[in-house]
Amino acid sequence: MTVSLLRCNDYDYHTVRKTIERTFKDLGGIEKFVKKGEKVLLKVNLLMKKKPEEATTTNPVLVRAVADVLIAYGAEVVIGDSPGGPFLEGRMRNIYKASGMEEASVLSGADLNFNLASHYTECKDGLLLNKIVLTDMINDVDKIINLPKLKTHGFAVYTGAVKNLFGLIPGTIKAEYHVRMPDINDFSNALIDICEFVKPALHIMDGITAMEGAGPSSGSPKDLGVILASENPYELDLVACKIIGLNVEDVPTLRKAHERGLSSGKLEDIEMIGDKLEKSVVSDFVYASSTSGNYRRIPVPVRKLLVNKLKSRPIFNHDICIGCGDCEENCPPKAIVMVKKRPVVDDAKCISCFCCQELCPAKAIDIKKPILAKILFR
Ligand code: SF4
Ligand code: SF4
Repeated sequence: MTVSLLRCNDYDYHTVRKTIERTFKDLGGIEKFVKKGEKVLLKVNLLMKKKPEEATTTNPVLVRAVADVLIAYGAEVVIGDSPGGPFLEGRMRNIYKASGMEEASVLSGADLNFNLASHYTECKDGLLLNKIVLTDMINDVDKIINLPKLKTHGFAVYTGAVKNLFGLIPGTIKAEYHVRMPDINDFSNALIDICEFVKPALHIMDGITAMEGAGPSSGSPKDLGVILASENPYELDLVACKIIGLNVEDVPTLRKAHERGLSSGKLEDIEMIGDKLEKSVVSDFVYASSTSGNYRRIPVPVRKLLVNKLKSRPIFNHDICIGCGDCEENCPPKAIVMVKKRPVVDDAKCISCFCCQELCPAKAIDIKKPILAKILFR
């Protein structure tokens, strides 16, 4: 399968638009993915209410450029995602505004999704999931184009094309999936089931400014200057991970996709087009400080014995905390209680999913890696 990599050093609209036009051309033309008159969902990453410069959400300039190109071709476009937390119209309006999606929609003529309904769907070919709850926004369109942001992730190590589709599970129901699948390997297989079921026509990744460190929401912007695109989300993620120095064994979704025969897991099997991959590889990318992705390197019996000593934990900074209670509300196993407007976690209940950190608006939650894990995973 082919992966396109094009350099694009900033979010200047004309530069991004030219890069998107060339991406479509290099991959065989828009008509290969979308027919004139079809309605296309641009599945962006809108994890939470964040400004574009915080690098948590897909940048609105890239979203606008993709929408403009598709609309000029003759497609209809709708922009949508289901962020963490309640999936409510007022909340969506706030998130669309803060993230720049409202402006991208006005400038391009694309619609914003306000269909907040969801339904259970049978997933006959799922390895782990045989039923999935999905937002109805996918039923309103003919095609989906996935627009992930390249970021680190405390639980999943990395989030890109495959993980971005978890956003099609309605906000608060995401927590149920974490409770049902606290093991990262199961969770990754579930992400792949969702990805295979939804099957976007194309994936275009915003890697112009990525997020490093405490991703997916509390990390720091990191300029990488790339736009990646492919029909194959696993191979696109493999290329993105190569850029930031991760390999198949480091990233649970890559590993599971390889085991399931959805990707060979080898860069040499991918037809790279566009600019040279080697010139985009960075050596100083900072990862999230969790250990979940590295458990596989330890033999299973040892892993079972040490699991509690190796597990990373959320640490709450009560001085920065604004007492909003979002972490308590969104903790899948209900391990957090607010005491005097400050969160207190029950370690025995915590499943180290880091949803609390992901959704904390004040960046008041760090992930603490135990000393033993630091030594083992150095
Ligand atoms: S989400 Fe963050 S700011 Fe809100 S209560 Fe929890 S730690 Fe405090
Ligand atoms: S405390 Fe945080 S990391 Fe632990 S289970 Fe709750 S949301 Fe997940």
